[in-house]
Amino acid sequence: MSNPLLQTQVLPPFEQIEAEHVVPAVTELTNRNRQRIAQLVKEVEEPTWENFIAPLEDWADELQQAWSPVGHLSYVKDSPELREAYKESIQLLSAYHTELGQNRGLFEGYTKIRNSDAFKQLSQAQQQTIENALIDFSLTGIGLPEAEQKEFAELASQLAELSNRFQENVLDATQGWTLLIEDEARLAGLPETAKGTLAQNAKLKEQTGWLINLEFPSYLPVMTYCDDGDIRKQVYLAQITRASEVGPNAGQWDNTETIRHLLEGRLKKAKLLNYDNFAQVSLAKKMAEDEGQVLAFLDELASKSYPQAQREFSELAAFAQEHLGLSELQPWDVTYVAEKLKLHQYSVSQEELRPYFPVDQVMKGLFETASRLFGVSFQQATDFESYHPDVRYYQVMKDGDPVASFYLDMYAREGKKGGAWMDDCRIRRRTEAGLQLPVAYLVCNFTAPLGDDQPSLLTHNEVTTLFHEFGHGLHHMLTQVEVSEVSGINGVAWDAVELPSQFMENYCWQPEALAFISGHYESGEPLPKELLDKMLAAKNFGSAMQMVRQLEFALFDFRLHAEFDPGEAKQVASIMDQVRQQVSVVPVVPDNRFQNAFSHIFAGGYAAGYYSYKWAEVLSADAFSLFEEKGIFDPATGTSFRDNILAKGGSEPAMNLFKAFRGREPEVEPLLRHSGIS
Ligand SMILES: [Zn+2]
Repeated sequence: MSNPLLQTQVLPPFEQIEAEHVVPAVTELTNRNRQRIAQLVKEVEEPTWENFIAPLEDWADELQQAWSPVGHLSYVKDSPELREAYKESIQLLSAYHTELGQNRGLFEGYTKIRNSDAFKQLSQAQQQTIENALIDFSLTGIGLPEAEQKEFAELASQLAELSNRFQENVLDATQGWTLLIEDEARLAGLPETAKGTLAQNAKLKEQTGWLINLEFPSYLPVMTYCDDGDIRKQVYLAQITRASEVGPNAGQWDNTETIRHLLEGRLKKAKLLNYDNFAQVSLAKKMAEDEGQVLAFLDELASKSYPQAQREFSELAAFAQEHLGLSELQPWDVTYVAEKLKLHQYSVSQEELRPYFPVDQVMKGLFETASRLFGVSFQQATDFESYHPDVRYYQVMKDGDPVASFYLDMYAREGKKGGAWMDDCRIRRRTEAGLQLPVAYLVCNFTAPLGDDQPSLLTHNEVTTLFHEFGHGLHHMLTQVEVSEVSGINGVAWDAVELPSQFMENYCWQPEALAFISGHYESGEPLPKELLDKMLAAKNFGSAMQMVRQLEFALFDFRLHAEFDPGEAKQVASIMDQVRQQVSVVPVVPDNRFQNAFSHIFAGGYAAGYYSYKWAEVLSADAFSLFEEKGIFDPATGTSFRDNILAKGGSEPAMNLFKAFRGREPEVEPLLRHSGIS
């Protein structure tokens, strides 16, 4: 029997795909590509786009077309067989991609094209593809002299090992501390669900009572709701001393040395690659241009948010004194008191909002928003191959022609991964057979309708999530690029990729848009103004304190990777201290070793990149501010956003695209204003 995954198809043949097809298809396609690539680099003496890169793109797309439905199904329709096949295939694919990155013949081919006269004749998208590929190659160390390549490879494996150890220490330290509560009265304030989690924790350890550990589902409710300040204090101190030389498990899983070795290794790696520091390595493929720009950006946000953050803290302290009898606000009180104050000032629950957001009304509103802004319309198709009856399929139309399509898989069910996301199914590209149109997967986990008379009702958070993911989808689907590596979200700088998604979220907070996004499922009445006002106030509650907290992490991360000097023994702690001096409004416990468990930057992909969270927020708020000036549905501004940002994908540097749309570089004021920071 033929393997359906080996056929190139317009849409994935979901009904025919079985777990047993997966590994054979991935094996065959990667091996075939290996042979083709070996032949290509041997035979092509004068590489050009047509004879060298175009075939590489075809082969990559063949593999991507086979893989996309497999990856998708493993997220949305899990089974033990598919899970096994997926795991095995991921290893095959990762080995294959590592090989490509280290293929000297490919590297030389791209370099030759880059240096040829023909390069300047290529389209912007083609040039950008080549530039991106060369940066990727250079970051693997492939351009280094042989002796240094060996050193580089050893360094890379040491760094992987160190990150791994860092993460293991964090895990062990997180699991290595618990607090058993035997008297239920001490848990006063905690919601029943949270108590249930703690009782479950105890049961799992064969203990009686309620067991608090440092995992998020236990830690967060305790810090937010537990009336007993002594419990909060113990839990807090255990949390902020994890994996360090202090605290209740002092020295047991200490990451202090791991951090130093990681920073030393990263600096060495940067120097081998001819950069001054690791922050520059991180910025090689980002929108932010240099260290100065990132630091100026963070400093500006910090200085503009700090005074309000101080006011917010004083307000908390005053409230704590007056209403909770806390004479001095300690760090372990902050989350708890903030929750109480928020309840005191604004009582609006997500559940209260559900009746205003029946799912079909929201979808109609979403399409209306996209249609007004970008001149596209949507047609639901009934005849398509699916993998579950709940899945919908839509075509995106522009000027009467289909330009893209997407699957919408909305409801939570067994065997489906939680959360919401957009993924690409087919990428827009020019092939010999013509233009291949983009196809997206949009996945959410909303509660399914309970019956015919009760539609699925969304919380406002869920509506915002849907708009967010749809923004990623539009970026993928409204691209005009025909070269796959920079088409849609491909090749978009990491710190710019959240621009369209966060931009779309703005519409969930606008009365003019809510007038048709919302509609009570019984009366049809749109969301009342007073509810929206309450929601807005609640959204901005404590925003300056949250801002400076994020800035503390971002500044610490970035300065550490920009300034690290192996000769300075206490530098990690001293940078942390300086940053806190600059931005923190909450008193700091001397034993705070937050950095020893900062996995984002020491074990994840965020080293010298934590600033990206704020960077993306600034971009989307600033982009939206142009709509605030011209009208939130101003067609000309919508067209400009579509043509300058969505259409261009990764084909030009993100800063150029942003400037083409906004007429200037990004500014921080709109984000501050939207967050209620004056
Ligand atoms: Zn996103």
